[in-house]
Amino acid sequence: MEQLIRQFPLSFPTFQRGQVWLVGAGPGDPGLLSLLALHALRSADVVIHDALVDRRILTLAGADARLESAGKRGGRPSPSQPDISRRLVALARQNLRVLRLKGGDPFVFGRGAEEACALAEAGVGFRVVPGITAGIGGLAYAGIPATARDANSAIAFITGHDASGQVPDGLDWPALARSVPVLVVYMALTHLDEITLRLIRAGRPAQEPAALICCATTPDQVVLTAPLAEIAALAAGRSLKPPAMLVVGRVVNYRATLNWLAGETP
Ligand code: SAH
Repeated sequence: MEQLIRQFPLSFPTFQRGQVWLVGAGPGDPGLLSLLALHALRSADVVIHDALVDRRILTLAGADARLESAGKRGGRPSPSQPDISRRLVALARQNLRVLRLKGGDPFVFGRGAEEACALAEAGVGFRVVPGITAGIGGLAYAGIPATARDANSAIAFITGHDASGQVPDGLDWPALARSVPVLVVYMALTHLDEITLRLIRAGRPAQEPAALICCATTPDQVVLTAPLAEIAALAAGRSLKPPAMLVVGRVVNYRATLNWLAGETP
């Protein structure tokens, strides 16, 4: 890998002192990191990472890099978002190369936009390195295509709770239910019951195929499939670990044929 990076030195921008890079770490499996993310890990002086970032990825940081957790995980005390943004600005002003490492993609339900805006306002130089979002990578590892010609020509990524922690009321659930054949609900575990009920009330068939994908692309990956009306009860009977996503739509049926991961460890 190091050799590969040396072979293409011009492809990698220099991580400048005083800059912050907002980097997506992908859904878990370290193999899903981009080369640019790996380059950033190798070059950073300090890595501020989310709780979602897989431990194995943190071991790829340079030996002298300082690792700091900005853990935002439901239930546990964690720094507030403004605290994290202030910390990034402060570290950049110490002339350090600051890597802000987030699960999945930094701009998909990751508050990356808020942090990037804070950096822009503070006049701190930054770069965004996209990552594979859970709604793409996690589905692939569950053997569920995000799109398939016979199933859907659109897909929606939805958050299962808003800033207040409740199922988002601002969403037009009937419109989503009517017009988007495949729904991927992030942060789905806490309010799974209510989310599935809302979708059924909004017109989704109770028997529509659904999947709950937990800890996708990690050795703890668990995938449950059931009709939409039954998936919450099935999940309640298992002690499932977050993070988890709900997938609703006919693409779930593909898993019966495409579960390539069966029996293997990610
Ligand atoms: N920026 C991240 C999403 C952060 S929000 C991304 O692009 O993937 C956190 C939610 O993402 C979790 O509640 C869960 O719904 C989803 N998620 C992230 N990693 C996941 C994983 N490995 N398996 C299943 N869901 C995951």
